[in-house]
Amino acid sequence: MAYTVDRPKMTLAEKMYLPAIVTGLAITAKHFKNMILGRTKVVMQYPEEKWDSHMPEHYRGAPTLVKDEHDRERCVACQLCEFICPPRAITITPGELPSESKFAKVEKYPEEFKIDMIRCIYCGLCEEVCPEQAIFLRKDYAITGLTRADMVHDKKKLYELGGEMNGLVHKWNPLK
Ligand code: SF4
Ligand code: SF4
Repeated sequence: MAYTVDRPKMTLAEKMYLPAIVTGLAITAKHFKNMILGRTKVVMQYPEEKWDSHMPEHYRGAPTLVKDEHDRERCVACQLCEFICPPRAITITPGELPSESKFAKVEKYPEEFKIDMIRCIYCGLCEEVCPEQAIFLRKDYAITGLTRADMVHDKKKLYELGGEMNGLVHKWNPLK
C-alpha cells in the first residue's frame, strides 16, 4: 500500500509566500548596500585570480592516477575502484605484464583507465578503496572540456594530472 507523507498545514501568510519574499528582498538589499559601500567583492578576475588560497578544507578534488618515483605505474588493475564507484564513472581494461617482467602472471596493469568526469561525483571512494595508493583526489577544480569526449579522462591525462607519489607501493615489494 502506498505511504502518504504528512504535509504541515500552512498559514495564510505562508500560502501567499509573503514572509519568504520579504526576507529574500531584505537579504538582497543588504548585499546591495554592502556592494555599494565596497564591503563585498562580487567579481573574481579568473583565471588570473584563483580560489586556491580560499579552498575549503573539505573540498576533495578530482580523481587522478599517480606513478612512483621511478616512473612506474602503481595501479594493478584490480578494478576495486571501478566496482565501488557509485555512478560507474571508471572503466578499466586490465592487461597482462610482459613475460620478461618478474611480476608477470602475478600482477596486472591497466591497459586502459578512463574516468568520465561528467559522471564523477567527487566522492573519494576510489581513493579510499585502492590497495596500491594509485588513485588520488587532487584539489583541482578547473576541469573543463568543449565536448563530452574531452571530459572523459584517459590514462595519459590522469597521469598528467596526478604526477608522482613517493612511498610504499605494494606491487613493487620483493616477491616472497
Ligand atoms: S571520486 Fe567517486 S565518483 Fe569519482 S571516480 Fe572516484 S569513486 Fe567514482
Ligand atoms: S587504481 Fe587502485 S583500486 Fe583502482 S584498479 Fe588500480 S590498483 Fe585497483
